[in-house]
Amino acid sequence: LLPPLPPHKHTVTMALRVLVGCKRVIDYAVKIRVKPDKSGVVTEGVKHSMNPFDEIAVEEAVRMKEKKIAKEIVVVSCGPAQAQETIRTALAMGADRGIHVEVPADQMDTLQPLHVSKILAKLAEKEAADVVMLGKLAIDDDSNQTAQMTASILDWPQGVFASKVEKTDAGLTVTREVDGGLETIKINLPAVLSADLRLNEPRYATLPNIMKAKKKKVDKVKPDSLGVDLSPRIKVVAVEDPPVREAGQTVADVDELVGKLKEKGFSS
Ligand code: AMP
Repeated sequence: LLPPLPPHKHTVTMALRVLVGCKRVIDYAVKIRVKPDKSGVVTEGVKHSMNPFDEIAVEEAVRMKEKKIAKEIVVVSCGPAQAQETIRTALAMGADRGIHVEVPADQMDTLQPLHVSKILAKLAEKEAADVVMLGKLAIDDDSNQTAQMTASILDWPQGVFASKVEKTDAGLTVTREVDGGLETIKINLPAVLSADLRLNEPRYATLPNIMKAKKKKVDKVKPDSLGVDLSPRIKVVAVEDPPVREAGQTVADVDELVGKLKEKGFSS
């Protein structure tokens, strides 16, 4: 008689450990100002918050825990000291513990998705994560690269732009928002996911949960200790404001509109 097979790491009965990436970015409601030397945007004295797509990622992880699909949620933020506030927000929403990957403020401008992906991949292995859950996009760099590169480095399947995630026997069924419709895929675990806008509506942290979050554990790690070199691979040449929109004109009727369009060189 053959000895029984050792249990597979990812059976349905086993709840998952979810690693969530949360970036501290300039708040979405802030009017962005470009630095006069065009080297970047003004960040000093500007309100920052958790990247909105990362709130959706945290919410999804918390719902997985509430459904007993997840057993632990570890939130990671790579950033300056204030990234701890972002971690605390995620902890107040229901994450269990945090990892602050310390990136000095003056290196944040050159921190790129490849660096973050290497860090997240290392931590996913170290923490024995089953799911890496990210936002689809950081609203400051608009890269939409980190989830895909993290999956590639780990050689794990990816379900990006997720608008629905369900646990199935073999792994996950992910509905993805693609151009003009939805795509449903089945992927095995471990896997990397990225949250799209319609995945859920994130909860607000309640005051008691904000208080509880203060007691949760947040470890600090330096990128070097994970073997990740943060030297920049891309040079930003110039950052410029979008062109200012010119004032509109009111026209009396269609003939006048057509006349004006012709003046501007538009033809039918
Ligand atoms: P991006 O590829 O830069 O658009 O970022 C996509 C996602 O990667 C974000 O929504 C976050 O979940 C994650 N991410 C990017 N940068 C960081 C960071 N500095 N710390 C933690 N997570 C990050």
